[in-house]
Amino acid sequence: MELVCPAGNLPSLKAAVDNGADSVYVGFKDDTNARHFAGLNFTGRTFEKAIRYAQDRGRKVFVAINTYPQPAGFGRWKKAVDQAAEHGVDALILADMGVLDYARERWPELNLHLSVQASVTTAEGISFYHENFAIKRVVLPRVLSVNQVAHVIAGSPIPVEVFGFGSLCVMVEGRCLLSSYATGKSPNTYGACSPGSHVRWEETPDGTNTRLNGVLIDHYAEGEKAGYPTLCKGRFQVGDHTFYALEEPTSLNTLSILPKLREIGVSAIKVEGRQRSPAYVAQVTAVMRAAIDQCLQNPASYQPKERWMRELSDVSEGSQTTLGAYHRPWQ
Ligand code: SF4
Repeated sequence: MELVCPAGNLPSLKAAVDNGADSVYVGFKDDTNARHFAGLNFTGRTFEKAIRYAQDRGRKVFVAINTYPQPAGFGRWKKAVDQAAEHGVDALILADMGVLDYARERWPELNLHLSVQASVTTAEGISFYHENFAIKRVVLPRVLSVNQVAHVIAGSPIPVEVFGFGSLCVMVEGRCLLSSYATGKSPNTYGACSPGSHVRWEETPDGTNTRLNGVLIDHYAEGEKAGYPTLCKGRFQVGDHTFYALEEPTSLNTLSILPKLREIGVSAIKVEGRQRSPAYVAQVTAVMRAAIDQCLQNPASYQPKERWMRELSDVSEGSQTTLGAYHRPWQ
């Protein structure tokens, strides 16, 4: 199983490569990718350096161009495809059919992966993209149980990549409107859920309020660790109770099911987090590398080490982890 790690900047890319990533995925500094945050991503010079650093060490570079262009903006998505292809990247991660079609026609030799943002959850859907756009790999959304993933892999004509660690979206990727509802900007078209320009931190006499475009997302008591205001992870008042009404902050962690993922034929494990720090990338990559190596060497005796679990919990949202949708015994 290939280990695919995130890089929001050059130090993160080096951290991923140095700690054992097989592949690194990056984006450009604009709305063509789903981590369009200020201070993140790559432009000409740093992009070249990043590719050289990874490829000189035998690692692959994938470029995510995985948002959905608006009618007047298609040129930016074409430019992103051309820029990535001209620099000799190993694959593009795409979602929109128009962008897939353009990349396929203009750069027929280039590997195309179907992004999680395309939300394809069936072997039939994968076959459609494979036949029409010659995609070479698909990244599944984080909404399927392990049994469902196995079913998809059994019928898929191409290798399947799944998420192994990182923040979770409660919605099927590519289809969440919560951020757009509050700010007018959606992760699917603008590239950022809860864009920083709309985030406010308010000190109050009894703690801190976090707001997204004026919408109160959470209130933290004095001394309580405050999280980034994301609508699906806010604490809301419902009746007489105030709680995480949609989802508790937590991160996906698949260390305990790596042998199962291997057994059902998963080809690549992806780590989420291009918006996270180089220290996060280094930590998660090192743990996942050690775990995957041990799992591949001897799947029967593999056990996640306590130290690995602790190290991943330390960098998880809310300091807790879950198997998410993978663990649904009734599916
Ligand atoms: S609001 Fe939550 S579910 Fe929707 S895109 Fe943002 S993180 Fe994902």
